[in-house]
Amino acid sequence: MKVLKFGGSSVASSESIQKVLAIVGEKSKNQKIVVLVSAFGKTTDKLLSAANEALEDITASKEILESIKETHYTIIDDLITKNKKEVYKEVTGLFDRLLSIYEGIYLLQELSDKTLAKVSSFGERLSSYIIANVSAGLFAATHKESRDLIITNNEYLNAQVNFLATNKNINSFFKENKHQITVLGGFISSNNSGETTTLGRGGSDFSAAIYAAALNANELQIWTDVSGMYTANPRVVKQANPISEISYEEAMELSHFGAKVLYPPTIQPALRKEIPIRIKNTFEPENLGTLICKNPKNKNEVKGISHIENICLITLEGGGMIGVPGFSKRLFETLSQEKINVVFITQASSEHSICVGVYENDAVKAKGLLDETFSIEIDRKKIKPIGVEKDLAIIAVVGESLKNYQGLSGQMFSSLGKNNVNIRAIAQGSSEKNISAVINKYDAKKALNTLHEEFFEEKIKQLNLFVMGVGNVGKRFLAQLLQQKKFLRDNLKLNIRVIGISNSKKMVFNNNGVNLNNWEESLHNGEPTSLENFYNKVKKCNQRNSVFIDNTANQSVSEVYEKYLRNSISVVTCNKIACASSFNNYKTLKEVSRKYNASFLFETNVGAGLPIIDTLKNLINSGDRVHKIQAVLSGSLNFVFNTFDTNSTFHNVVEAAQKEGYTEPDPKIDLSGIDVARKILILARESGYQLELEDIENNAFLPKESLKTIDNEAFYASLIKNEAHFQNIFKNANDNDCRLKYVAEFVDGKANVGLQHISVNHPFYNLEGSDNIVLFFTDRYPENP
Ligand code: ADP
Ligand code: ASP
Ligand code: MG
Repeated sequence: MKVLKFGGSSVASSESIQKVLAIVGEKSKNQKIVVLVSAFGKTTDKLLSAANEALEDITASKEILESIKETHYTIIDDLITKNKKEVYKEVTGLFDRLLSIYEGIYLLQELSDKTLAKVSSFGERLSSYIIANVSAGLFAATHKESRDLIITNNEYLNAQVNFLATNKNINSFFKENKHQITVLGGFISSNNSGETTTLGRGGSDFSAAIYAAALNANELQIWTDVSGMYTANPRVVKQANPISEISYEEAMELSHFGAKVLYPPTIQPALRKEIPIRIKNTFEPENLGTLICKNPKNKNEVKGISHIENICLITLEGGGMIGVPGFSKRLFETLSQEKINVVFITQASSEHSICVGVYENDAVKAKGLLDETFSIEIDRKKIKPIGVEKDLAIIAVVGESLKNYQGLSGQMFSSLGKNNVNIRAIAQGSSEKNISAVINKYDAKKALNTLHEEFFEEKIKQLNLFVMGVGNVGKRFLAQLLQQKKFLRDNLKLNIRVIGISNSKKMVFNNNGVNLNNWEESLHNGEPTSLENFYNKVKKCNQRNSVFIDNTANQSVSEVYEKYLRNSISVVTCNKIACASSFNNYKTLKEVSRKYNASFLFETNVGAGLPIIDTLKNLINSGDRVHKIQAVLSGSLNFVFNTFDTNSTFHNVVEAAQKEGYTEPDPKIDLSGIDVARKILILARESGYQLELEDIENNAFLPKESLKTIDNEAFYASLIKNEAHFQNIFKNANDNDCRLKYVAEFVDGKANVGLQHISVNHPFYNLEGSDNIVLFFTDRYPENP
């Protein structure tokens, strides 16, 4: 015999019920089956909210009832083929009774747990009756009222099962029952006096397990809307995978910590009898699903990650507790007397504080009760008033063999730390099947994804990019990403996703990644931007492994890096301004980057795409020391002086350089030498020298009036006016058989930039086009740089 349970989502519409029927037909071919059904779709939620509405507004509650009726009558009309009249009559009778109860609540202005249990039972009473009758039209099926069989105590909404009485009832009923298929409602039960009780929200799973255990079924199947128990909730973590096999204990921990695909108590009866539980997808029945059993084959240390939202931390704290027995007893006694569920406990070994996690709904009540329990100690200032911290979530990493591996908790917390997830409290059960942490609930999604990546996707790391600037460099950058995406994934195991793009006017965000084939269109239709808006949006996205990319040449953009780094968001920039700003600022950015574990990278500040800074870093990290640097670092000035001669005019050549994209947007920044000065400054700083931009001697070749111009138009006009000056510079060099190169030099702590005559035997002589060259003279390479 098998027991099959179909959840609310599996019976939410006529179409899904047809899928259920197909499964029931198939499974009952060779054996008897017991079918437990939940209420249709969200019926239980609706029944309860209609009851709450009835306390104030009976019209609202009647409206909800109408929508419940519509769902049920539609299903009856679509699916019932036999005894339709009788079914209609029975169902209408049930709805009439329900309406009387709502009217009673309204009149009496009273809604007890007993009434709530009665009201919520209608969902399963209706669904099981209707599905049984639909089945009876197709197979040898019958309906049985589950409240006649499952007997509980008087805790109406979360009743405890009397297994002795229940098992006896179930066995004697099934001994007589000759039907191939028996359909029952989950969730519902009754007490000794025959009053309706329920097994708790999500309790249909539990009902199914009770039947499976009582009948020694060979398998319990939980049919739902996902293909098994996943490594994390698939609705929150896209990359989650179904777990093929998992032990009872692990499944229990996962479901206890929020994996609602299975109701935690369900495991108990099945575990006691070692009945295998299989979680299956009604909508994809061919998928294997998850098998919960005693000895699972899959031996991963971490089986899954789950979380519970809406948690509050309640803290009992004070010097007066140290060494005094009885505080925790009183704390837990108070909470348990009022049936407040404690989800999480930690106590520091100093005994200075005890911290418990409870559901947010219970927080106010818990604080009130505890303040009263400890009022004397609080008055005498032995302990502080009870502290309450809201908006928290618990995340848990679950796996049976966690205890056999060192370093897993280290791995868990360091990956959370790297992603700026603040941890408020930690607990590891001594069973060591679970390590849990309390975090801000707004970080829950990021934390789950981070941990999932850490434990299940080590092979591929996701980088989330936020790109500012789509000019020459920015455009090329995005094109390069698109071209390189597959290579990076296959070879470096990096999955790169551009989540946000911005220019100076607009920004566009897509949490699944902006499509890089048509980002221009998306940006065009984007929302207005500002540095502040962009930053706020990046923070709100709250993605793991976030990287802010500055592809602008803008001063104000360079001033926001620190903010990003302090949020553990890495910064990668081609903009030289930050690294060439005050030494203090440069140093701060490096320190903040280290402290918050976020990279600060600026390779393209010097030498465009060439790995110059990286090479320098490697030399220094391996113990070499730089004495002198000589370099031609300006692609634009090189292009200009390699092209300029007596057959051309200076301003035409500069214009061509700008058109080719070799200059900064403002060509004066290149021609004045300031850009080169910034580059040699950065190289000197990276070599370990403390230098400011003002310390660099700049031997400008531009006439003073060109330097003073305020826009590109005036600048070009002054170049035309001073053509003779430039021709003269060229002639001087040419007469000496030299070429003109704009050289940056750093020698023993001092730096200068300027135009130099380079003779034929110098390594710089043959540089062509916009080429760069850098010579490092170091301890290891004193003569042959
Ligand atoms: P049913 O109506 O069938 O009882 P539930 O909504 O109670 O279904 O449970 C199924 C849901 O559980 C899934 O849709 C999924 O969102 C959620 N869930 C949470 N954690 C997990 C997990 N680790 N694996 C699978 N599902 C999970
Ligand atoms: N219908 C009940 C609920 O929604 C029980 C269940 O579906 O498991 O909580
Ligand atoms: Mg459920």
